[in-house]
Amino acid sequence: MTRAASPAWHVCEDCGSAYGLPTAAPTGNGTGPALCVPCHTEHLTRHAARVQLEALTAPIVGAWAAQWMRAGIPFQELLSMAEHLTGADMAEDYGDAYRARTLRLLARAYPAPAALPEDVPPLRTLIDPAALPALRECRPAMPEHGISRPFFVNDRGEAVTIFPRVDTLTFLQADGVRVLIFTGHAQRTTGPVFGPHGYRVPAHLWAHVEAALTGEGVTA
Ligand SMILES: [Zn+2]
Repeated sequence: MTRAASPAWHVCEDCGSAYGLPTAAPTGNGTGPALCVPCHTEHLTRHAARVQLEALTAPIVGAWAAQWMRAGIPFQELLSMAEHLTGADMAEDYGDAYRARTLRLLARAYPAPAALPEDVPPLRTLIDPAALPALRECRPAMPEHGISRPFFVNDRGEAVTIFPRVDTLTFLQADGVRVLIFTGHAQRTTGPVFGPHGYRVPAHLWAHVEAALTGEGVTA
């Protein structure tokens, strides 16, 4: 069986170095540019910032205008106050410089909180190396049985696969055993990983584990 790439895949139009699927068009109809996952995440973050600015300012500006219109200030005067505040009444490049200066000043005057809220507890993970399963042997890929990468058998007799995308932390112990801890995925997530936190790897299997972590021995 051959696996053909879906025709929807395109080279990312932002970074050009990864494949991605088309994004949803802003109008909601059809699709927009193809973006890889990191670039797509970046776009979503910028979109959120833009939408949030409008959501935060609209009720304040609207309430301000409504209050002073009711107090009898002519609309044209309120409009020129808003233009003055945003530099919209200045010549183009003066206005640009004024807005840049004001935005930087405001960001300094209202800095982001320096600390996380107290109700977000720090992550404390306790691992007892002696309780981690130990790897006992390595077996090669068996493509004829649909097993495309080498795997290990642990001391409970279970088959264990180690994938190359995991982030790891390894402790070399005095007896030559390495304690291999999984800390996340592709430098993007941290914290508990599905499954055991890691394995005890006897010295004679370490080269096989390193090979698994670099993706060696994988059949198509
Ligand atoms: Zn990209």
